[in-house]
Amino acid sequence: MTSQPRPRWDVVVAGSGPAGLAVAAACADRGLATVVVAPATGPWAHTYGMWADELADAEVALLGGARAGVRYPTTLVRTGAGDHDLGRAYARLDNGSVHAALLDRLRAGGGEVVTGTVEQVLDGRTAALADGTRLHGTLVVDARGGGPATAQQRAWGERVPGPVPDVVPEGGALLMDWTALRDPADPQPPAFLYGMGLDDGTVLLEATSLAARPPVPLPALRDRLHAHLARHGLRSLGEPEKVAIPLDATAAGTGAPVGAAAGLVHPATGYSVATSLRLGPVVADAVVGGAGPAEVRSLVRSRRRRATLALLGLGREVLLDLDEEQTDTFFRAFFTLPARSWATYLAVDSSPAAVAATMLRVAAALPAPGRRALLTAVVRALRR
Ligand SMILES: Cc1cc2nc3c(=O)[nH]c(=O)nc-3n(C[C@H](O)[C@H](O)[C@H](O)COP(=O)(O)OP(=O)(O)OC[C@H]3O[C@@H](n4cnc5c(N)ncnc54)[C@H](O)[C@@H]3O)c2cc1C
Repeated sequence: MTSQPRPRWDVVVAGSGPAGLAVAAACADRGLATVVVAPATGPWAHTYGMWADELADAEVALLGGARAGVRYPTTLVRTGAGDHDLGRAYARLDNGSVHAALLDRLRAGGGEVVTGTVEQVLDGRTAALADGTRLHGTLVVDARGGGPATAQQRAWGERVPGPVPDVVPEGGALLMDWTALRDPADPQPPAFLYGMGLDDGTVLLEATSLAARPPVPLPALRDRLHAHLARHGLRSLGEPEKVAIPLDATAAGTGAPVGAAAGLVHPATGYSVATSLRLGPVVADAVVGGAGPAEVRSLVRSRRRRATLALLGLGREVLLDLDEEQTDTFFRAFFTLPARSWATYLAVDSSPAAVAATMLRVAAALPAPGRRALLTAVVRALRR
């Protein structure tokens, strides 16, 4: 009989995205011997947005209160009905400082970073690397990101010299402008403009397809953005940001999955970073309490959260069927709900009952033709 190798690590984390480093730093903070393994461990390149209250929660839970990003006090949604300030501040993660702070915490707790590719997770406890190395822990946290999906959010972003107050409120964020990119002649699904000021005084503008199956080709979004820039006489600077977020990927992660690997991307909006940062310490506490791979999996993908994700997924399926006019009408109604209601729908941690209640409230808030379109889309989505 061969004996099991003695674990050198308490926690082996596969992946160094926000989900992986959040768990790794929190584990090391709690005295767990932690190693992170990923092919590349540099700062994250994407622009990560979230609500300012979510950023504040992450600062407290994960970074000892240190500032982790930029706040935008005004968050604007623009529809055919005009501008609506949501009254909930938006935020952008400061990738460089958060990434560095999480690595510092990992190393301060005796943790290490290994460059490599995990090919397999065995028994939830051993990471088998492509170069033949095996890292043994009491637990492997799988944070290798999301799998393939048939529905995706896509966006094409470019920076322009700021400020551009007629497009993005000065010092604020433009969450969605459903009027800016309208093109009835374009056969592609609806797109909205997203934007915010960056630290260097430029403004990032992104032509975004919220959810589409098949995904909208990136060049189509680039062309819509360029047409908008031309209308406003705006010149683009630097490299584009290209966004492709799987929205209906199965939770492919093995061992103890977290983040996109655990299917924790919001099925309709593509957001996951705030959830991942918040869950890092929760997972670490569970491991300190003796949780193994199966317990962490049930914590992260609890029955309640799976039910919520399924409802949010139904919401995405409904949106897939709406045209430009119907989408504009939908978001007009959605954001006139009380903030508590729409915020419930935007969080994967909400209870299924609360999400269902918001869905009913949106239906009730829609004008009769919009409600008919929504109900038709619900029936079609349920038949898929
Ligand atoms: C351009 C862009 C912009 C986005 N903007 C936002 C946003 O504003 N707000 C938001 O909430 N979400 C956003 N998202 C969506 C989503 O939240 C991100 O994709 C987020 O990075 C997911 O975090 P994660 O840590 O789960 O996975 P990832 O960030 O994908 O990290 C996966 C990690 O695993 C590593 N890895 C992969 N394969 C292996 C392997 N075999 N072995 C070891 N390591 C491996 C990778 O190198 C990486 O380090 C955006 C996505 C994109 C692409």
